[in-house]
Amino acid sequence: MTKDENTSLAQTVRGMRDLVGVDVSVYGEIINTLMRVAYSHGYSQIETPILEFTSLFVRGLGEDTDVVGKEMFSFLDRAGQSVTLRPEGTASAVRALITNKLTQTLPQKFFYYGPMFRYDRPQKGRYRQFFQFGIEDFGESGPLSDVDVIALAHEGLSKLGVQGELFINSIGDKSSREIYKSHLVDYFSKYKNDLSEDSQRRLLTNPLRILDSKELSDIAIIEGSPSLFDFLSKDAAAFFDKVQDGLNVLSIPYSIDRTLVRGLDYYDHTTFEFKANIDSQPLAVVGGGRYNGLVEEMGGPSIPAVGLAFGVDRVMLAYDRARIPAKTVISVLFVTEKEEVVALKLANALRDKFNVIIPSDGGIAKRLKQSNTAGATCAIIIGEDEVRLSAVKCKLLKAVGEYSDGDEFSVEQANLEEFLMRVTVPKDKIL
Ligand code: AMP
Repeated sequence: MTKDENTSLAQTVRGMRDLVGVDVSVYGEIINTLMRVAYSHGYSQIETPILEFTSLFVRGLGEDTDVVGKEMFSFLDRAGQSVTLRPEGTASAVRALITNKLTQTLPQKFFYYGPMFRYDRPQKGRYRQFFQFGIEDFGESGPLSDVDVIALAHEGLSKLGVQGELFINSIGDKSSREIYKSHLVDYFSKYKNDLSEDSQRRLLTNPLRILDSKELSDIAIIEGSPSLFDFLSKDAAAFFDKVQDGLNVLSIPYSIDRTLVRGLDYYDHTTFEFKANIDSQPLAVVGGGRYNGLVEEMGGPSIPAVGLAFGVDRVMLAYDRARIPAKTVISVLFVTEKEEVVALKLANALRDKFNVIIPSDGGIAKRLKQSNTAGATCAIIIGEDEVRLSAVKCKLLKAVGEYSDGDEFSVEQANLEEFLMRVTVPKDKIL
């Protein structure tokens, strides 16, 4: 018996979950808000496949990163090719830029959103299928673009009412990092035998990655390591100063975190993260930075780039659900089949202003109960008499303003919308 024959059909795969009920509304509200902010900064949408060749991520993210080494959902397809469910969006965006020959018309500013997949240990705020909203700005090399990307994240979070604390760092340009790397190797070599197995390997392959280690044995050693900051070239230091000047001009508060090297290999110059408190724990809700070398590394021309990704699941955890705008639900009930057509027409006419349901199974009492369960504020009942008089009976299912639950009114069909606006939406809530 294979492992999957043991599982119940109603079970989801570990680390993956359905979004139902209010979660879906929150997800939609977050995506809509971030789309509006991205459009206002000159971005347009791009859609790339969820499945890509494994080599794209190995090359793009770096062989020695945790994501590539331990967390990818990779498998052989029926033709024997290794494919991977995307663990993030940047590598795909770079590929799409090259594949679609967009490198000739710069800048190109993309946003995208959707599911990403990482085989990590699931816990609150960390899932194996999670959602990101990402933006990538290709073709702009100045620090102003870094500032604009950070400002976009800041604006997105504040429009969503999420308090995010910004941390920034510079990991310098290539030349700064080369010099720094040799100092780092000298330092870590002194503690070689005390380092974790992964870090010992990284000492040879990619010493900067050691700084990102979460192993307890490594953390104490990392604390005493030299800081990249002390090795920034003049140009890299000036670039970082300008990023800070821009943030100051926009009054965006930040702290410098010298340990912020981020988990992926492709960054240089600016790296940043926004953290929010989720159950009193600071969790990264947005991460990003500049990656000038990546397009060339992936086979394209040398094109500077900067980008970020919101972790939408974590933004959902930090989001105050009371902010979801409610649209009033109205229930339309016909007494017998003879009134069905009138009910259908009336329901359609009301859908501009209200969410309208037409429960059709069972007697009026049962359908009133269903209307209550669906959260309807008012039931509109249409019987033989109402059709004859071009009127309807309105029964309130909730107390609103000066009206009580159970109040009934007879209303002419021609005045129905105006009447419903008056009785179902308290005056101060009319938009
Ligand atoms: P990264 O692509 O690693 O730079 O991550 C960008 C953002 O995506 C992070 O700041 C998190 O908010 C979110 N994120 C990354 N991995 C996960 C995960 N496994 N589950 C939920 N959110 C995640």
